[in-house]
Amino acid sequence: METSQLYRIYLQHPQISTDTRKILPSSLFFALKGDKFDANAFAEQAIAAGAAYAIIDDAKYRVSEQYILVDDVLGKLQDLARYHRKQLTIPVIGLTGTNGKTTTKELINAVLSQRYKTYATQGNLNNHIGVPLSILSVTADHQMAVIEMGANHQKEIEMLCTISQPTHGLITNVGKAHLEGFGGPEGVKIAKGELYDYLQKTGGVIFANTGNEILAGMRNIRGIDEVIGYGTNDNQENFINGKLISNTPYVVLQWQKQGGEVSEVATNLTGAYNMENILTAVCIGSFFDMTDAEINAGISGYTPGNNRSQITKTATNVLICDYYNANPSSMALAIENIATMDAANKVMILGDMFELGDDAPAEHRSIIEKAISAPASRRLFIGKAFYDQKDGFDAEFFSTTEEAINTLKDQPVTNATVLLKGSRGMALERLVELF
Ligand code: ATP
Ligand code: MG
Repeated sequence: METSQLYRIYLQHPQISTDTRKILPSSLFFALKGDKFDANAFAEQAIAAGAAYAIIDDAKYRVSEQYILVDDVLGKLQDLARYHRKQLTIPVIGLTGTNGKTTTKELINAVLSQRYKTYATQGNLNNHIGVPLSILSVTADHQMAVIEMGANHQKEIEMLCTISQPTHGLITNVGKAHLEGFGGPEGVKIAKGELYDYLQKTGGVIFANTGNEILAGMRNIRGIDEVIGYGTNDNQENFINGKLISNTPYVVLQWQKQGGEVSEVATNLTGAYNMENILTAVCIGSFFDMTDAEINAGISGYTPGNNRSQITKTATNVLICDYYNANPSSMALAIENIATMDAANKVMILGDMFELGDDAPAEHRSIIEKAISAPASRRLFIGKAFYDQKDGFDAEFFSTTEEAINTLKDQPVTNATVLLKGSRGMALERLVELF
């Protein structure tokens, strides 16, 4: 079926379902394939559960007019999203980067929503399926959209840009993550830079933390010199300049628009690294003509969820729950953050960082060195990658989370500020009840 024809059906049935356990009434069910399943086989179930149509790519499941046969279901979902995006005339802010995409996206949304009806990517739906689903959720009522784009290999951001077609965008930062898929740190720059390529080609607006030299270098090689700048670097050309006032336990900052008044705002985020995330949202709000008061209301009203830079107070401890994910750059910043916090007793509990390929031993070693040189009464390293590097270091090493749990039960942590950080697969949330 032609995309334009499917689009007419979508306008009547704008809800999309992809999971038979969560079929929305009268929706379009896209029968996607995964590594271990082929949803063509579930199309009938989707229709029985209330979907209006099932989009399938295996003819043998087509038993009535409610089954729409296409060449490739995923490709059709993406084409439909491209088609829909072309009908929207609103600003779409696209963002990618190694760290802080979701936090920055949420902050931008919190700010813009103070004035505009804004759609933002839900949760972390930032891949080849999530981005089309996000775009297809934007309706004619929305005045702005904020779309997170993630990648773990080359050409992915380029492809996602053809779907989200951002008019404005930014790269949060470029660091070490998914090194395997990208082919090393230089590969990460090339891949994330595809957003700059898209915005440059289409005349889009680029927001940039001008204090980030890696990003500046990436723009230099592309000859991009016009950006809406922000940062903590006191650059007079910056549209927004910011200054960290305190970070114990939450970030308080001052910011100033070029030629404007100084404004101070207290946040619910911990970690000086969040300054760049916050300033991005301030910059975008200001760029879209919002008042300082509206912007500050958005920033101060935002509380992070999902264990990203979250602080939890227990009976005797303060937990910095940052175990949603980890990679060498975010791990190093989390260590620096607790190191600078004004707390008498600090404990670091760090879990393995995944997807580092050949760089894993050296990267884990360097995190151990960094943690050891920072002030702490205890340092616990959990996981095989850390355990393999333990020789010569005076710290507690555990090859499994269970062993760490047993030790923490025998020797509990009390009256401490505790950093908990590791890759998602380490599931460090299992430790929280011990504090
Ligand atoms: P994902 O790749 O999983 O989508 P993300 O880029 O969306 O991740 P967030 O979910 O916002 O990132 O944050 C994940 C973790 O990254 C945080 O818990 C924090 O430790 C770290 N982080 C957040 N912002 C920054 C930043 N600006 N610089 C470095 N690390 C950051
Ligand atoms: Mg994310």
